[in-house]
Amino acid sequence: AATQHREGEDGNIRTYLRIRPSKNPSGLFAQDEEDVTRLKFDIPVDLKSGEVINNTQTRHEFKFNGVLGANATQEQVFDSIGKDAVLNVLDGYNSTIFAYGQTGSGKTFTVTGGAERYVDRGVIPRCLSLLYSEFKRRSDTQYSCYVSYLEIYNEQGYDLLDPSHETKALEDLPRVALMEDEAGNIHLKNLSMYMSATEEEALNYLFLGDTNRAISETAMNKASSRSHCIFTVAIEGRRAGGEKVTRSKLHLVDLAGSERVHKTNATGQTLQEAKYINTSLFYLEMVIVALHERTRGRRHVPYRNSMMTSVLRDSLGGNCKTVMIATINPEAPHTEESISTCRFAQRVS
Ligand code: ADP
Ligand code: MG
Repeated sequence: AATQHREGEDGNIRTYLRIRPSKNPSGLFAQDEEDVTRLKFDIPVDLKSGEVINNTQTRHEFKFNGVLGANATQEQVFDSIGKDAVLNVLDGYNSTIFAYGQTGSGKTFTVTGGAERYVDRGVIPRCLSLLYSEFKRRSDTQYSCYVSYLEIYNEQGYDLLDPSHETKALEDLPRVALMEDEAGNIHLKNLSMYMSATEEEALNYLFLGDTNRAISETAMNKASSRSHCIFTVAIEGRRAGGEKVTRSKLHLVDLAGSERVHKTNATGQTLQEAKYINTSLFYLEMVIVALHERTRGRRHVPYRNSMMTSVLRDSLGGNCKTVMIATINPEAPHTEESISTCRFAQRVS
């Protein structure tokens, strides 16, 4: 029961930009009035030296599938990036949604959401809600749904739903290991998939994983988000009276903060973490770029270089739907990181 293939679609990914709200936006950039999917930065300073350039402005322009401004609601974000992914998965195709951006730019708010208000629920709970309502609506098919929650920290995988999180230190937890079978399929040892019969059950796993994530963050570097987290929903569909089982997966990925190290004067543990993060974001870019080139005849896609790309191997490119939401903080001190985030999004789109 392999994943189905949809004809005539390239592996290109869709990129969206989300600008988080701020009391103090820099005003250095704006959506293009004629084409709202375009973002322009007009910057009177040299980005490298920080020096003011006399009377000239450096213009940077970026193009996205959509720009979600500071007033965009969680519902609008879900409509742009989540809905299609869910419908695609229900049709039997794998999908992946990434949030990419510097720490504090709104990745977790976008992916998981704010905990306080119901309207602040992020993409994951909204995807679950749509999935389970579609399961009910599509009564000709019997669906089973499983969830897992993986954390990747310094290239080591941890199961965020492992009950021993409560009693064990991070370094004593079992490591998730990659295993490849003869057919080239990737299996993850020590990562449990939990059957969730209802939306509430699936949501409880999300909350449990987020609690464990908060615990493990204290063991890392509190101030910043140094790990990648992948919440995966796997579904199996069996049509009434049919033998055939369709399997597909939706990965919702909250990437580690993309900020570069030099700014933080990192040493020791922080430097080590930053190296792992830079490397794995670099390999992610490399895989996505290679997938674009494959549609132009290139064969080799270097999935094996990092845990992230190995885990997502069957869920990127080809017939899979991949969406990147790049998040930026509009305040002036973050301009350089914001541009660097936009550049990453342009390179992978
Ligand atoms: P990241 O995961 O990229 O480090 P967070 O999602 O944790 O960033 O966002 C940092 C802070 O800003 C959090 O307190 C979060 O609730 C808030 N925040 C981010 N985006 C929004 C938004 N669109 N609306 C309201 N609050 C937001
Ligand atoms: Mg975060």
